[in-house]
Amino acid sequence: MSLIVVGSMAFDAIETPFGKSDKIVGGAATYIAWSASNFTKPIKQISVVGGDFPQEELDALTKRGVDMEGVQIKKDEKSFFWSGKYHLDMNTRDTLETQLNVLGTFEPVVPESFQGAEFLMLGNLAPAVQLSVIAQLKQRPKLIVLDTMNFWMEIALLELQEVISKVDVLMVNDSEARQLSGEYSLVKAAKKILSTGPKYLIIKKGEHGALLFHKNQVFYAPALPLEDVFDPTGAGDTFAGGFIGHIARTKDISFENMKTAIIVGSAMASYCVEKFGAARLREITKDDIDARVEEFVQLVNFDIALTN
Ligand code: AMP
Repeated sequence: MSLIVVGSMAFDAIETPFGKSDKIVGGAATYIAWSASNFTKPIKQISVVGGDFPQEELDALTKRGVDMEGVQIKKDEKSFFWSGKYHLDMNTRDTLETQLNVLGTFEPVVPESFQGAEFLMLGNLAPAVQLSVIAQLKQRPKLIVLDTMNFWMEIALLELQEVISKVDVLMVNDSEARQLSGEYSLVKAAKKILSTGPKYLIIKKGEHGALLFHKNQVFYAPALPLEDVFDPTGAGDTFAGGFIGHIARTKDISFENMKTAIIVGSAMASYCVEKFGAARLREITKDDIDARVEEFVQLVNFDIALTN
């Protein structure tokens, strides 16, 4: 089993209607690794941080089974920094600031020991970096999943479209699907996006769950109704980590198994939002995950008698 994860490792400053964090550790690849490492090990991480990134955070991931050989540490530079503010409904947020810092000049190098990986999770970061990782792999992975963000649609659309054309699964949120396709209807947006390369499209809708599109099929998974959502940051990446972690564990890339992977991803995301940053992900056990997956099963389990 082998999974390569690419993405930002970062400092975040988050404001929600219920609280404000100082600079805390975040980043797409951080959340993906904490989430996916529940299902498959080792995770082969590719990212970049500055000299300001806490060594104990890197050590905690190593201890967790994340191989950090592909993580560059630029001693004299600063880590990527992002700050965001959530609206009252917590489903929408504004980016207040993005400081690329080390990410602006990042040239990933895929270690020799990462070659031959069966699964590739391209988490959110510059499309040029995502393309470079794909180009460096001598053998194409069985499944390539891509997550991205409006930021890259605005400043690197052509490169982003090129990566999209090379992947199997694209994950975006609803507003990003609309921005990318120019269509308001998510069904039309999905058709357009699927015509540009990916075989599967996952549209994340925050507290309204996620949709999986493939050819003419659609699957919908709700999000678990939670009493308290403390901080949604990283929920999308945590979802991605659960999704690819489940696929890598089962080695099954069928549409049917992707449905299960979406439930696993949703269960992981439901834990992520319960505390600031990745704090909750660091505490949960396999039993917690199973319990939440079971809650999902109960949430959508019903009998129905057709009228004729
Ligand atoms: P999510 O809430 O799952 O969409 O992801 C939030 C994480 O994405 C934060 O921890 C940020 O550090 C990271 N992030 C925000 N903007 C970017 C960007 N432009 N490129 C890469 N990572 C980003």
